Amino acid sequence: MDYPALRRERLIRQLAGEDIDVLMVSNPVNVTYLTGFTGDSTVLLLRRDGLLLVSDSRYAGQLAEECPGLPVHIRSTSQKLPEAVAEVLKGFGIRSVGFESNAVTVAELELLRQLAPSLDWKGGTERVERLRMVKDASELVQIRTAIDVAERVFTAFRSLLRPEDTEKDLCAAIEHYARRAGGSGTAFPPIVAVGERAALPHAPPTSRTVASGELLLVDWGVSAPLYKSDLTRILVNRKNLTFSGTTSATTAKLHEVYSVVLQAQEAALRAIRPGVSTCAIDAAARAVIAEAGYGEYFGHGLGHGIGLQIHEAPWLRPNADVPLEPGMVFTLEPGIYLPGWGGVRIEDDVLVTPDGGERLTHLSRDLEAMKL
Ligand code: ZN
Ligand code: ZN
Repeated sequence: MDYPALRRERLIRQLAGEDIDVLMVSNPVNVTYLTGFTGDSTVLLLRRDGLLLVSDSRYAGQLAEECPGLPVHIRSTSQKLPEAVAEVLKGFGIRSVGFESNAVTVAELELLRQLAPSLDWKGGTERVERLRMVKDASELVQIRTAIDVAERVFTAFRSLLRPEDTEKDLCAAIEHYARRAGGSGTAFPPIVAVGERAALPHAPPTSRTVASGELLLVDWGVSAPLYKSDLTRILVNRKNLTFSGTTSATTAKLHEVYSVVLQAQEAALRAIRPGVSTCAIDAAARAVIAEAGYGEYFGHGLGHGIGLQIHEAPWLRPNADVPLEPGMVFTLEPGIYLPGWGGVRIEDDVLVTPDGGERLTHLSRDLEAMKL
């Protein structure tokens, strides 16, 4: 099945309500989504009755390979991309062009307006992104693969973990395992945070060793090859857990905080069904954390869409009101971060189905199973 062609058809149907003759797609991720071409410096000009890719000679071979049959205009080396685009658009004999406001710089837009002054340029931010929120069958296969690879990365990571490893060593190890396990790389720089550093939701890695703390927060994902996965787990350093047979205060706290975060994630998963707003899913998790007295320690949104990008629509946060639709895939990542103590986040990837939410990740969330 030609999925990019189906996506273009959906996009054209959606554009029917807008008064534009051509949509200029210049965000490389959106070009990939609509054509299968994975290079950059290439603009897709989409019309109701056809399309044209404007690129340069470096990509001629790759275009023929990745999206055979699509018409391509290779610009001359003396021409800049906006110049070539303006020339092609003028040749179309059209009146209005839609452009992606978040993918065209002010300088590029000024140049385009100057080169094609008779055209009416109409910005927009979500024409393609709105479509990308709902994944088709081929995208779901690729996301499931990215999750599968990420889970194998974690298994290798865990079995090879040594007390003397530093956060930096471990981030590098994840990068390596991601490729060994079949990914094209990590989906983002992994986060490995020992002890109280886990209180920083986006902790940059340091030279702290695993042995120096009771808990280890690992947030990682892979690209396999284009679609992303995103998971977070807490590992517990059993050796540091107890002293003289008594449970330390940190351990007791860890069990309490972990169970609140887990319940918050479960509540969010149960709340998922088509038609429910993204902010209601966020609220379901947030209420559990607030009731347990940790409301002020959960300072970020509950989750984000994943797909060709690691962070994309829909967003699950208090002010984001998008009704869920079957086929949406996003993370559920509630967390509690206690400065000076540490943090717990549990992150899984879920799919909205016609009758609820399906967890796509399979790694255990049982704290007992997370003891090293
Ligand atoms: Zn993550
Ligand atoms: Zn995430």
